[in-house]
Amino acid sequence: MGKGDAETAARRLRLLQAEFLEPTRGEPGLRTGTRTSPPAPLHLGILDHMKASVEEVIAHTRQQAPNASPIPAEAGDVYDWCVQQTPHLDGERQAIRDALIFRQSLEHAIAMGDIKAVRKLPCPGCGCYGLLWRAGAALCPYDRCTDSRGMANRWSLAQLAHHHVAFKKMLKTHAT
Ligand SMILES: [Zn+2]
Repeated sequence: MGKGDAETAARRLRLLQAEFLEPTRGEPGLRTGTRTSPPAPLHLGILDHMKASVEEVIAHTRQQAPNASPIPAEAGDVYDWCVQQTPHLDGERQAIRDALIFRQSLEHAIAMGDIKAVRKLPCPGCGCYGLLWRAGAALCPYDRCTDSRGMANRWSLAQLAHHHVAFKKMLKTHAT
Protein backbone atom coordinates (compact mmCIF):
# COMPACT_ATOMS: atom_id res chain seq x y z
CA MET A 1 0.00 0.00 0.00
CA GLY A 2 1.20 3.47 -0.83
CA LYS A 3 1.46 5.05 2.59
CA GLY A 4 4.63 6.88 1.67
CA ASP A 5 3.10 8.03 -1.61
CA ALA A 6 0.06 9.43 0.19
CA GLU A 7 2.37 11.34 2.53
CA THR A 8 4.34 12.75 -0.38
CA ALA A 9 1.14 13.81 -2.15
CA ALA A 10 -0.05 15.57 1.02
CA ARG A 11 3.31 17.27 1.52
CA ARG A 12 3.31 18.56 -2.05
CA LEU A 13 -0.25 19.82 -1.78
CA ARG A 14 0.60 21.69 1.43
CA LEU A 15 3.70 23.11 -0.21
CA LEU A 16 1.63 24.39 -3.13
CA GLN A 17 -0.79 25.92 -0.69
CA ALA A 18 1.97 27.64 1.25
CA GLU A 19 4.05 28.75 -1.72
CA PHE A 20 1.42 29.86 -4.15
CA LEU A 21 -1.67 30.75 -2.21
CA GLU A 22 -0.17 32.59 0.74
CA PRO A 23 2.65 34.53 -0.88
CA THR A 24 2.38 37.48 1.48
CA ARG A 25 3.01 35.36 4.53
CA GLY A 26 6.61 35.11 5.66
CA GLU A 27 9.35 37.35 6.84
CA PRO A 28 8.66 40.91 5.79
CA GLY A 29 11.83 42.83 5.09
CA LEU A 30 14.08 39.80 5.25
CA ARG A 31 13.95 38.64 1.69
CA THR A 32 12.20 41.53 0.06
CA GLY A 33 13.01 41.57 -3.57
CA THR A 34 13.86 37.90 -3.84
CA ARG A 35 10.43 36.71 -2.91
CA THR A 36 8.28 38.10 -5.67
CA SER A 37 4.75 36.83 -5.95
CA PRO A 38 3.86 34.90 -9.07
CA PRO A 39 1.38 36.77 -11.27
CA ALA A 40 -2.30 36.44 -10.42
CA PRO A 41 -3.22 34.02 -13.25
CA LEU A 42 -0.78 31.49 -11.83
CA HIS A 43 -2.43 31.79 -8.43
CA LEU A 44 -5.81 31.18 -9.96
CA GLY A 45 -4.51 28.24 -11.93
CA ILE A 46 -3.00 26.71 -8.81
CA LEU A 47 -6.15 27.35 -6.85
CA ASP A 48 -8.25 25.62 -9.51
CA HIS A 49 -5.76 22.78 -9.67
CA MET A 50 -5.86 22.24 -5.89
CA LYS A 51 -9.62 22.48 -5.75
CA ALA A 52 -10.07 20.00 -8.59
CA SER A 53 -7.56 17.61 -7.00
CA VAL A 54 -9.23 17.61 -3.61
CA GLU A 55 -12.67 17.22 -5.16
CA GLU A 56 -11.49 14.27 -7.22
CA VAL A 57 -10.13 12.49 -4.12
CA ILE A 58 -13.33 13.17 -2.17
CA ALA A 59 -15.57 11.96 -5.01
CA HIS A 60 -13.48 8.83 -5.50
CA THR A 61 -13.46 8.05 -1.77
CA ARG A 62 -17.22 8.51 -1.40
CA GLN A 63 -17.85 6.37 -4.42
CA GLN A 64 -15.77 3.55 -2.94
CA ALA A 65 -16.90 4.13 0.65
CA PRO A 66 -20.41 5.66 0.74
CA ASN A 67 -20.29 5.73 4.54
CA ALA A 68 -16.99 7.57 4.70
CA SER A 69 -16.47 9.87 7.68
CA PRO A 70 -16.78 13.64 7.10
CA ILE A 71 -14.10 15.14 4.90
CA PRO A 72 -11.10 16.59 6.71
CA ALA A 73 -10.90 20.34 7.21
CA GLU A 74 -7.37 20.59 5.82
CA ALA A 75 -6.94 19.95 2.10
CA GLY A 76 -3.64 18.19 2.74
CA ASP A 77 -5.35 15.59 4.89
CA VAL A 78 -7.55 14.18 2.12
CA TYR A 79 -5.06 11.55 1.02
CA ASP A 80 -4.71 10.05 4.48
CA TRP A 81 -8.47 10.24 4.85
CA CYS A 82 -8.99 8.53 1.50
CA VAL A 83 -6.69 5.64 2.46
CA GLN A 84 -8.23 5.32 5.93
CA GLN A 85 -11.76 5.14 4.56
CA THR A 86 -11.02 2.46 1.99
CA PRO A 87 -9.19 -0.45 3.67
CA HIS A 88 -11.92 -2.81 2.47
CA LEU A 89 -11.09 -2.44 -1.21
CA ASP A 90 -9.77 -5.44 -3.09
CA GLY A 91 -6.26 -5.31 -4.52
CA GLU A 92 -7.32 -4.02 -7.90
CA ARG A 93 -9.37 -1.15 -6.51
CA GLN A 94 -6.64 -0.31 -4.01
CA ALA A 95 -4.25 -0.05 -6.94
CA ILE A 96 -6.64 2.36 -8.70
CA ARG A 97 -6.85 4.47 -5.54
CA ASP A 98 -3.09 4.45 -5.03
CA ALA A 99 -2.49 5.39 -8.67
CA LEU A 100 -4.90 8.31 -8.32
CA ILE A 101 -3.02 9.57 -5.28
CA PHE A 102 0.35 9.11 -6.95
CA ARG A 103 -0.81 10.84 -10.14
CA GLN A 104 -1.98 13.82 -8.10
CA SER A 105 1.34 13.85 -6.28
CA LEU A 106 3.08 14.12 -9.66
CA GLU A 107 0.63 16.80 -10.79
CA HIS A 108 1.41 18.86 -7.69
CA ALA A 109 5.13 18.49 -8.35
CA ILE A 110 4.70 19.60 -11.97
CA ALA A 111 2.54 22.53 -10.85
CA MET A 112 5.46 23.62 -8.66
CA GLY A 113 7.86 23.24 -11.56
CA ASP A 114 9.49 20.19 -9.98
CA ILE A 115 10.00 18.02 -13.06
CA LYS A 116 12.57 15.90 -11.22
CA ALA A 117 9.63 13.97 -9.79
CA VAL A 118 9.07 12.57 -13.28
CA ARG A 119 12.75 12.03 -14.04
CA LYS A 120 13.08 9.79 -10.99
CA LEU A 121 10.55 7.28 -12.35
CA PRO A 122 11.45 4.41 -14.67
CA CYS A 123 10.04 4.46 -18.20
CA PRO A 124 7.04 2.07 -18.32
CA GLY A 125 8.20 0.90 -21.74
CA CYS A 126 11.86 0.05 -21.23
CA GLY A 127 12.57 0.66 -17.55
CA CYS A 128 15.28 3.24 -18.09
CA TYR A 129 15.49 6.44 -16.07
CA GLY A 130 15.73 10.04 -17.14
CA LEU A 131 12.25 10.69 -18.54
CA LEU A 132 11.96 14.18 -20.00
CA TRP A 133 8.96 16.34 -19.28
CA ARG A 134 7.86 17.89 -22.57
CA ALA A 135 4.54 19.48 -23.55
CA GLY A 136 2.53 17.75 -20.88
CA ALA A 137 3.98 14.26 -21.29
CA ALA A 138 7.00 12.27 -20.16
CA LEU A 139 9.27 11.34 -23.05
CA CYS A 140 11.59 8.35 -22.93
CA PRO A 141 15.20 9.39 -23.63
CA TYR A 142 16.23 5.95 -24.88
CA ASP A 143 16.37 6.07 -28.68
CA ARG A 144 15.13 2.50 -29.09
CA CYS A 145 12.09 3.03 -26.89
CA THR A 146 9.69 4.22 -29.57
CA ASP A 147 6.11 3.78 -30.65
CA SER A 148 4.97 2.18 -33.93
CA ARG A 149 5.78 5.39 -35.85
CA GLY A 150 9.32 5.51 -34.51
CA MET A 151 8.57 8.44 -32.18
CA ALA A 152 9.91 8.49 -28.63
CA ASN A 153 7.43 6.83 -26.29
CA ARG A 154 5.33 9.38 -24.41
CA TRP A 155 3.59 8.75 -21.11
CA SER A 156 0.91 10.66 -19.28
CA LEU A 157 1.13 11.16 -15.54
CA ALA A 158 -1.77 8.72 -15.19
CA GLN A 159 0.22 6.06 -17.07
CA LEU A 160 3.33 6.72 -14.98
CA ALA A 161 1.27 6.47 -11.79
CA HIS A 162 -0.39 3.24 -12.88
CA HIS A 163 2.99 1.74 -13.72
CA HIS A 164 4.54 2.96 -10.45
CA VAL A 165 1.80 1.34 -8.36
CA ALA A 166 1.88 -1.92 -10.33
CA PHE A 167 5.68 -2.02 -10.08
CA LYS A 168 5.66 -1.48 -6.32
CA LYS A 169 3.06 -4.17 -5.89
CA MET A 170 5.13 -6.56 -7.97
CA LEU A 171 8.23 -5.87 -5.85
CA LYS A 172 6.22 -6.47 -2.71
CA THR A 173 4.81 -9.75 -4.02
CA HIS A 174 8.26 -10.97 -4.87
CA ALA A 175 9.69 -9.92 -1.53
CA THR A 176 7.25 -12.01 0.49
ZN1 LIG B 1 11.59 3.88 -22.47
